[in-house]
Amino acid sequence: MTTQETKTTVTTVTTVTTATTATTDAPSIADELAAAEASIIDHFNAFYPDAVAVVCRAHTGRDDLTATALAGLSLESLALRATAADGSVHEAMVPFSRPVATLNDLHPLAIEVTTAARTSLGITELTSAEIEDQKLHAIRTHITSVVRVEQLTPSFRQITFGGGDLTSFQPGGLDQFIYVLAPPPGRTELTIDASFSWDDYGQMPDDERPIGAYYTLRRWRPDVAEIDMLFVLHGVADRHGEPGPTARWAAKAEPGDPVALWGPRTAYEPPADTDWLLLAGDETGLPAISVILEHLPAGTPAHVFVELGDDADRLALPESPDIHVTWLIRGDAPAGTTTLLIDAVRALDLPDGKVYAWGGAESRTMTQIRKYLRRERGFERTQVCMVGYWRHASTSDADAFDTEDA
Ligand SMILES: Cc1cc2nc3c(=O)[nH]c(=O)nc-3n(C[C@H](O)[C@H](O)[C@H](O)COP(=O)(O)OP(=O)(O)OC[C@H]3O[C@@H](n4cnc5c(N)ncnc54)[C@H](O)[C@@H]3O)c2cc1C
Repeated sequence: MTTQETKTTVTTVTTVTTATTATTDAPSIADELAAAEASIIDHFNAFYPDAVAVVCRAHTGRDDLTATALAGLSLESLALRATAADGSVHEAMVPFSRPVATLNDLHPLAIEVTTAARTSLGITELTSAEIEDQKLHAIRTHITSVVRVEQLTPSFRQITFGGGDLTSFQPGGLDQFIYVLAPPPGRTELTIDASFSWDDYGQMPDDERPIGAYYTLRRWRPDVAEIDMLFVLHGVADRHGEPGPTARWAAKAEPGDPVALWGPRTAYEPPADTDWLLLAGDETGLPAISVILEHLPAGTPAHVFVELGDDADRLALPESPDIHVTWLIRGDAPAGTTTLLIDAVRALDLPDGKVYAWGGAESRTMTQIRKYLRRERGFERTQVCMVGYWRHASTSDADAFDTEDA
C-alpha cells in the first residue's frame, strides 16, 4: 500500500513509512516517490489485487477484465493497466483528490480512490486494502514521556517510557513494534496529540512533522505502566555513516522528553504445528529475539543467529538446552553490508520437523534469507516471516522486495 518501509513478508507490516526527515538536504517527494515506486506498485499488486481489480473495473468501464494491475504512480495520479476477455488492453489514469505531499500520503489517497471506485460500482463489501486500512485506523496513539535512560552497551540505549496515556496501553504479540514519534528536530514539544493519524502526518508542514521510527517493545510493566525499548545508536556509537534522526534523538533523550507511541503491531505468528524456530537478526532484531526466547514453549528448539558490530553489544539471552545461539561479529564492516546472517542460515543443518523462521534485520539480508528458505528449502509462506527493519543505502527496491513470496 505505501511507501519506503521495506518489510514485505507479512501483509500486516506494511503501512507506515520510516520517518521522513525535516532536514534541508532531504530528497524531494518526487525523488522519494521515484525511488520507492517499484516496490509500492509491487506491494499493492501483490497484497491488494481485489482492490486493484475494483479500481480498474470502475475506471476502464469494463466488467470482463481478466488481468488488472497498478502500473504506475505519480504525485497526482495512479496509472492502471487491464486486459479484457477479448484480449484488448485498457489503460486509465486515476487522479488523486490532492497531490501527494509525503510518501505517507499515498496510503490515504489510494484508499480514497479505492473506496470511490467500489462505491461507484455498487459494491458494499470492503476490499482487502480498505479492511487493512480500518485495522490501522484502530491503532491508538499514546502520549507519554521518557522516565529513564540507561546505556546498556556501546550501541544499545534502553529508554523507558511511562506516565501519560500509557495506563491504557494494550500489549499484544511477541515482536510487538511501536512507532515512536518525537518532536521535530530543534523542537522540545510534541507537535501531535492522541488524535494523531498517518493521514494527517502527510499534510503537516515539514517543520511540524515529528521524527520517528518503529521500535520493539522489549518490556511492558503493567503495574507501573512502563515500556522499555532498546534503541540502536547507529551512526552515533559506530564509525559508519550519519545517525538517522531517531537514533540522534535517542542518543540525547532525557527523562521528561515527550513522545507519542503509535501501536502496537505484530508480525510474529508461528503456525500451531511448529516444531522448532529459526531466528535471525541484527542489532535491531535482537530486542524481539529476546522476547521470543523468553516465551519459548518448553521443548521447542530454537536456532538463533544474531549479527552484531561488536562483541561488546551482546545482550544476555535466556539459556536453555533448547536454545542454540550463534553470535556473528562483523567487526569493521558497516551494518547491512555483510553476508554473515544468510551464510549462517545456509550452513545450518536443518533439524527434522516443521520450522517457523522469523527475522528482523536489514532488508536485503531478510530478502536473501526469505528467498533461500522459500525457494531452495521449500518452506511454505506461513513458515517464513523475514521483516526488513531498515534499509541500507545500497539496498535497491529489487533487493528489498520480492513479490514472489507475497
Ligand atoms: C518492526 C520493526 C521493529 C524495529 N525494532 C527496533 C528496535 O527495537 N531497536 C532499534 O534500534 N531499531 C529497531 N527497528 C529499526 C529502526 O526502525 C530503524 O533502524 C530506523 O531506520 C531508525 O530510524 P532513524 O531515524 O534513526 O534512521 P533513518 O532516517 O530511518 O535512516 C537514516 C540512515 O541510517 C541508516 N540506518 C537506519 N537504521 C540503521 C541501523 N540499525 N544500522 C545502521 N544504519 C542504519 C539508513 O540506512 C539511513 O541511511 C525496527 C524496525 C522495524 C520495522
